Amino acid sequence: KAKANGKGNAFLYDPDIADDVNSRYELQIDLRGALDQHQLDLHYQPLVDTGHREVIAFEALLRWHHPVRGLIPPVDFVPIAEETGLIVEIGEWALRRACEEATCWPDTIRVSVNLSPIQFERGNLYQAVVNALTLSGLAPHRLELEITEGVLLRDEINTRAILHNLRALGVRIALDDFGTAYASLSYLRSFPFDKIKIDRSFVRDLDIGKRKDCEAIIQAVAGLGKQMQISTVAEGIETLDQAQTVTAAGCNELQGFYFSKPVPAADVGKALEVCRSKLE
Ligand code: C2E
Ligand code: MG
Ligand code: MG
Ligand code: MG
Repeated sequence: KAKANGKGNAFLYDPDIADDVNSRYELQIDLRGALDQHQLDLHYQPLVDTGHREVIAFEALLRWHHPVRGLIPPVDFVPIAEETGLIVEIGEWALRRACEEATCWPDTIRVSVNLSPIQFERGNLYQAVVNALTLSGLAPHRLELEITEGVLLRDEINTRAILHNLRALGVRIALDDFGTAYASLSYLRSFPFDKIKIDRSFVRDLDIGKRKDCEAIIQAVAGLGKQMQISTVAEGIETLDQAQTVTAAGCNELQGFYFSKPVPAADVGKALEVCRSKLE
């Protein structure tokens, strides 16, 4: 189990905890207090526009600074938050925080926030988005919401209604991790997405002898996006070669460690500069 490895700042953190029943139970208890105790935080990762060669958005990504266990990545606590329903409260907090922080950025730069399928079933997601926009004063077109295919697998009619209402506000909707679930293509006709994020696995496999296949798939998705007027993003860009390959394949946007890892809000300006230097 090496899933949490490779993160230098996670030295206190034991990657096995989320798999251990006792630890999981403890985490669940701790998570209840995490919001009130200001242990949750958002980090931001830039998305680069390949046409204009500039940063056009930052994705907000949850981090939990656990007082004893150190930094816990979302893969290990978002599922617990979903099981307990805490994700509704955490998700509403993330929306508010992300919108507030984005008001400090240049107004050409959007913020994107990940949503859990549970937020479509419990709580009032539409109202939470309206509140976050109203309280922060962020223009709706600067907010992007990322949903995964799992959202569409559930209560389709209710989900589509919520998504349509959100889009009517001027908020953009992105389909995250595209290509990882079964029947991906059918989702493209079930809702008018603004953006498709092609899953990181396709970019990763460019390097391991499946290059031709992955290139063909990325090209096909980018072509489909163009035809349907949906922007396409390649996730997980770690090298210049990958950036060039997926740009040539037709992707509109790039995101990945090559440009910047997710950074704390205070370092967004620095990340912008680093990205600009890589785009020169
Ligand atoms: P995601 O939305 O697909 O986010 C992208 C993940 O890939 C992030 O991991 C990011 O750090 C990582 N990543 C970006 N570029 C690269 C790269 O070049 N190489 C590699 N190896 N990884 C890269 P992170 O932050 O650990 O988040 C994991 C997942 O947790 C997210 O996947 C998302 O599904 C979920 N998540 C994060 N924040 C939230 C949130 O606020 N709400 C909900 N419901 N889920 C969240
Ligand atoms: Mg995402
Ligand atoms: Mg993603
Ligand atoms: Mg992903």
